[in-house]
Amino acid sequence: MQNRFLGKNVLVTGASAGIGEAIAFRFAQEGASVAINYSRNDAGAAATAAQVRSAHAEGGYENATVLSHKADVSDESSVLGMFEAVLGEWGRLDVLINNAGIQKPAESDKSLTADFDRILGVNLRGCYMCSREAIRHFLSRPGGGVIVNNSSVHEIIPKPQYLPYSVSKGGMENLTKTLALEYADRGIRVNAVGPGAIVTPINMNWINDPVAKKVVESHIPMGRAGESEEIAAVFAFLASDEASYITGQTLFACGGLTLFPEFRTTWSS
Ligand code: NAD
Repeated sequence: MQNRFLGKNVLVTGASAGIGEAIAFRFAQEGASVAINYSRNDAGAAATAAQVRSAHAEGGYENATVLSHKADVSDESSVLGMFEAVLGEWGRLDVLINNAGIQKPAESDKSLTADFDRILGVNLRGCYMCSREAIRHFLSRPGGGVIVNNSSVHEIIPKPQYLPYSVSKGGMENLTKTLALEYADRGIRVNAVGPGAIVTPINMNWINDPVAKKVVESHIPMGRAGESEEIAAVFAFLASDEASYITGQTLFACGGLTLFPEFRTTWSS
């Protein structure tokens, strides 16, 4: 394991489970101090914190620290409170990972406005508010900063019956590009990762059902779902100096899902 984040401070939203948990662990393995944001799952956040501490111990990162902050990223006062607490503790933030996200299926003609608002609120408005606060901090001191957003293949592939989710990730693409362009000349890079189908709690409806899992995997050119660790590695790359000339991009980590799999075999001239 490299130690690309030695002495860096990283805030990961939605880090009490799934991909966010793996991201927190990966950054800790590479030497970062990690702030774990979560909304409800105290036990999950405590488990992530324990993993971060063990990674610090294993790597011999004596000065690295872990913070936990319970905050709903869709709520502005909670977001402001979180940045105040994290910056109050560390004095400096180097990397923001906007990972928190939710989804809820519904046929669009029967869907509820309240669900649309809630999903957009967490996935997109939360990303906007956290990014704004991070950028405000990055601009307040020398050295710039990095934001990496957790988007999805549904940034570009429509997801029927998940309209608010699809819309939130489509919006995230534009948010990523717009912020990247607006702050490119001030040392701030903004990118996104677009995961495909990853084994996390958000996908419990097919992970534990062998038949449903086979159906999911049959759509993926590489023939398998991805693991959180494979996604965390992409976040670490984009946040690192190895990606120093990359901004405004979404890097899809999806086993080929964005390659129009239905065109695997030629069916038209
Ligand atoms: P998950 O359900 O395991 O984790 C979601 C995390 O977000 C949890 O830690 C949860 O506590 C947190 N969260 C939810 N609402 C929050 C709020 N209001 N404020 C703060 N935190 C909140 O799901 P996951 O699969 O790990 O998803 C993480 C991200 O990855 C999401 O943005 C999701 O859209 C994206 N993603 C996941 C997949 C996949 O297949 N798992 C694919 C593409 C994109």
